[in-house]
This record gives sequence, structure tokens and C-alpha cells, in this order.
Amino acid sequence: MGFALATAARRRGHTVTLIAGPVALPAPDGVSIVSVISAEDMLDAVSSNLPECDALIMCAAVADWRPATISPRKLKKHGGIPTLTLEATPDILQTIKPRKRKRLFIGFAAETDDLEQEASRKLKSKGLDLIVANDVGRSDSGFEVENNRVVMIPASGPRRRLPLMSKDAVAERIMDWIDARWK
Ligand code: C5P
Repeated sequence: MGFALATAARRRGHTVTLIAGPVALPAPDGVSIVSVISAEDMLDAVSSNLPECDALIMCAAVADWRPATISPRKLKKHGGIPTLTLEATPDILQTIKPRKRKRLFIGFAAETDDLEQEASRKLKSKGLDLIVANDVGRSDSGFEVENNRVVMIPASGPRRRLPLMSKDAVAERIMDWIDARWK
């Protein structure tokens, strides 16, 4: 979805920085790519690019937890089944929220249950202008497939429930929403 958004934004003449986790996709033409692995790396990259940014679209499915300790050595099978203790990763949008000012912040909410209710809660708690609620509970939309079924929920104004469509088409609708704010 991030690559589709970067391509759509670039085609419309925007200067685009794509901050991406590990993916097997070619970089879109004319887009600067920053490759990251962890949530911390992504936070650092978002934070350092924020001064140049008019619109931030956070569509990364950032892991909410990580292992609290990392073993420097291989864990032996005869040691028994290990217990994994997790700790929270930083919430990128929450962390940079105080620096939002006039920028547009757009988030995604990938949900399997209570799609619109959960997305609206995240829209408010993360102080976003728009959240794109992404129904990942069905096999024909969401992760690892070409299509998405989304509801665009703005902080003010009507919701738009879009039918199943390609990620490229969803990206165009999101860019239409953003560009309409700048006219
Ligand atoms: O994972 P979740 O559905 O809560 O994500 C909601 C929004 O928050 C998304 O836009 C996601 O990119 C962002 N997020 C974040 N930092 C995290 C987890 C999610 O900015 N640690």
C-alpha cells in the first residue's frame, strides 16, 4: 500500500520520501527510499524527515511488541521451550503528534473486528486528519494481496466506504482527498 501511495503521489508531482520496512518491491521512479527494519528505526526516519513534510501517510503495519531481550547465542532445544517476554515498541504517530502543526497526518487501521469503531478510536487518540480503515478479516483484501476494501474516515466530514479495489486505486482516492485539502 505504501508503494502504491508513493507512486500515486509522485505521479501528481509531489516530492516523496518512502520509509519502508523489508519488502521485495522495486523502488518507484523518482521517490527517495529510506529502508528500515525496526519500529525505532522507522520512528527515527519519520522524525528526521518531518521538517520537510506537509503530509505524512502512515500505512506501515508496525509491530506493537518486540522481545524484551535478544539472546546473543543460539537457544538449545534441550533447554526446553523458552518463554518470550515482550515489551512495547514506540508508537510513531503518538510520539510525533506534538510536532504535527499544520501538517496532514493520515493513518491506517487494519482490523478484523469492529472496523469503523476501532478506526475512529485510533483517529481521535492519534490526532489524525484521516484514517483509512482497512478490512483485513477477509481473504480477498489486506496483506499480501493486490486489493483492499477500505473506509475513509476523516476527522470532519462524511465517511467514504469504498468497494473492493486495487491498492493503486485506493492510493488514488487517498491522494484525491489530500490534494483537495491543498486546493
Ligand atoms: O497498528 P494500528 O492499527 O494500531 O495502527 C494504527 C496507525 O498507527 C497506523 O497508521 C500505523 O502505521 C500507526 N502506528 C504507529 N506506531 C506503532 C504502531 C502503529 O505509528 N507502533
